Amino acid sequence: MPIIYLDQKDIPTHYYNIIPKLPRPLDPPLHPATKKPLTPDDLAPIFPKALIAQEMSGEEYIEIPEEVRNAYKLYRPSPLVRAERLEKELGTPAKIYYKYEGVSPVGSHKLNTALAQVYYNKQEGVKRIATETGAGQWGSALSFACNYFGLKCKVYMVRISYEQKPYRKSMMKLFGGEIIASPSRDTKCGREFLVADPNTNGSLGMAISEAVEDAVSREDTKYSLGSVLNHVLLHQTIIGQEAMKQMEIAGDYPDIIIGCHGGGSNFAGISFPFLKDKLEGKKKNLRAIAVEPASCASLTKGKYEYDFGDTVGLTPMTMMYTLGHNFKPSPIHAGGLRYHGAASLVSLLLDEKVIEARAYEQKEVFEAAVLFAKNQGIVPAPESAHAIKAAIDEALKCKESGEAKVILFNLSGHGFFDMSAYDNYLDGKL
Ligand SMILES: *Cc1c(COP(=O)(O)O)cnc(C)c1O
Repeated sequence: MPIIYLDQKDIPTHYYNIIPKLPRPLDPPLHPATKKPLTPDDLAPIFPKALIAQEMSGEEYIEIPEEVRNAYKLYRPSPLVRAERLEKELGTPAKIYYKYEGVSPVGSHKLNTALAQVYYNKQEGVKRIATETGAGQWGSALSFACNYFGLKCKVYMVRISYEQKPYRKSMMKLFGGEIIASPSRDTKCGREFLVADPNTNGSLGMAISEAVEDAVSREDTKYSLGSVLNHVLLHQTIIGQEAMKQMEIAGDYPDIIIGCHGGGSNFAGISFPFLKDKLEGKKKNLRAIAVEPASCASLTKGKYEYDFGDTVGLTPMTMMYTLGHNFKPSPIHAGGLRYHGAASLVSLLLDEKVIEARAYEQKEVFEAAVLFAKNQGIVPAPESAHAIKAAIDEALKCKESGEAKVILFNLSGHGFFDMSAYDNYLDGKL
């Protein structure tokens, strides 16, 4: 049974919140100006109250609103697949499973949180949402979700991606989003970035600064972030909860869970529901590995300290593994993994050695992606290919040791908008 499907009635009814099970409490986020612990009121101009409450919630399970569960029915539950061809190709005794989030209308896991966030904004009367996007995955998800619930959407897209990824842009427009290259002339900080360097490529940090400024300067608008924050990771736990049911049907439980890591949301999504078992002492040997690019290695090379989420310093400071908010990542193809920081939740679990992290070079990642595509028929997003590379390495270790471990990884999205990156790889230009 290589593919395990669930019924729509099996779509999770609750989000799983790992906060109450953490080995120690999270360090509080700090106000960017006063450096004092943040209060819910500080966040009110940016986020709706329901999401602020989720950000700080101590409840282990938070009910998913009916309207959001109905929206998930457009594409969920997502399939869990046993990668039998890949196992054979590698000659490994390990069993490799992947959860495929590329079945979502926008092609990645990001819609899981976009639909929830837009719903809660709508409930509180918000009419318009501003956000940033790097490679365009998040911008497409939020544009689609805003259109679904009848809100307006403004996307500040990192300039270099705006120029290099025309089809993500088309997709956002098609879903009704308004999109502009960042830095732009639409915001004060955008104009300042342009004065400082008229030819700048832009960065995720700059685009976040613009979107936050947009949101705080307008009564009808709030801001939305596609990763990093506790509530975003929370929404993604539907991935892991579904995977748990599917693994049960398969008669297996993972020894190793793997996700690529940009801001931490898909890694958290697949792993947190399982890590509950580890934190409760039921699965002490369970390993979870977050995989990042060597050129933007916040978890493996960063410092564990308070830092801003954006370049200007408009966002709260959170405790995380970070390369510094002024870090300028090189333009690798896995645009979704080009972020200087990491989620507080993932950072704390890494600091406590509950999880592991590792980094790979771009070329070996594409090599793994092509091997996977040839055997399983799916062209993975370059981001997701980082998880594939780690899964293959772990399977090859099993081949050496003769252990039949169970490996589960999250295939966070497909790479159909990244074909020029694959062309570069195949032409030997990486
Ligand atoms: C955005 C994105 C990522 C990285 O973001 P996380 O929050 O770390 O999950 C990974 N894979 C895909 C396909 C993405 O679009």
